[in-house]
Amino acid sequence: MADIEVRLHGVRGSIPTPTSSPEIEDKIRSALEKATPADIQDDESIDRFVSAMPKVERGCIGGNSTCVQITIGEHELFFDAGSGCFAMAKTLFPGPFGKGQGKAHWFFTHTHHDHIVGLPMFGPIYIPGNQFKFVSPISNLYERLVRFQHFDFFPVPFDSFGSTIDFVDLSQTPTYQIGEDVFVSWLANDHPGTSFSYRIEHQGKVVVFSTDAEYKDISFQAMAPVMEFFRGADLLIFDAQYVFTDAVQMKRDWGHSSSFVGIDLALDAEVKELLLFHHDPMHTDATLLKNLQQARQYLKNMEPDSTLEIDLAYDGQYIALSPNP
Ligand SMILES: [Zn+2]
Ligand SMILES: [Zn+2]
Repeated sequence: MADIEVRLHGVRGSIPTPTSSPEIEDKIRSALEKATPADIQDDESIDRFVSAMPKVERGCIGGNSTCVQITIGEHELFFDAGSGCFAMAKTLFPGPFGKGQGKAHWFFTHTHHDHIVGLPMFGPIYIPGNQFKFVSPISNLYERLVRFQHFDFFPVPFDSFGSTIDFVDLSQTPTYQIGEDVFVSWLANDHPGTSFSYRIEHQGKVVVFSTDAEYKDISFQAMAPVMEFFRGADLLIFDAQYVFTDAVQMKRDWGHSSSFVGIDLALDAEVKELLLFHHDPMHTDATLLKNLQQARQYLKNMEPDSTLEIDLAYDGQYIALSPNP
């Protein structure tokens, strides 16, 4: 019985998006405006002042594209290989993956650039002895990754990685078991070229990773399989790239969703925590915070007594879920 440990290494959608200098200047200005003379009188008071600031004000939401690591005891599960997997590699090097003793299942939602662009720069994949299982319902994942690393686009071909990579095709396997008590099931999303959501279950705890999904038909009948898939999740990582007005007006068929749709689904499926993910690269941290406030207000209007928690996913975030006693 182990905790489910979730580490978010890349939360941005569509393209890696470094924080701009004007944005950093705004953060500095706003911090200075809030500080009193007592807050900045010595190192200690400065440390206290900085650490008391909200995470997004003293740091950044982050600009790396999709990569999520879920550790359950001895099992490492990686999801997608966007630019965030370069950041993940840095955290893995001091452990078994730096010595050629690492093992991981690597699940892929789909192969749009923002979800695989970091793979050729993921250091541990070059180290002999490391073992990876690339798992997804995409039957030709191997061919796609080979094409992605054609010499015209990257000097090292996919077949030249030093580690061992096996492929597991889940297209005929709705639920995949890892070890004795980790179960991963999948659901196809409406997204250009299709993407796949994953539901990870261990000892009564559930994490759902659902990105790059659009919900155009929100009738009960159309949403029933989605609600079943999300049912009772302790943590739902959800594609909320757009604000609701974007999603219904200009950006129909772009393959993404909004926080309001996420809240409706989370309420119906009795989700405990909704983490807004795949942030729009056009949105600054200030915009994302405003969107979060709108989402929380929407929840209050819809169900004032709801205990659903809503938050913004950010690069470097760590969430641990302990198994039911
Ligand atoms: Zn994407
Ligand atoms: Zn996509």
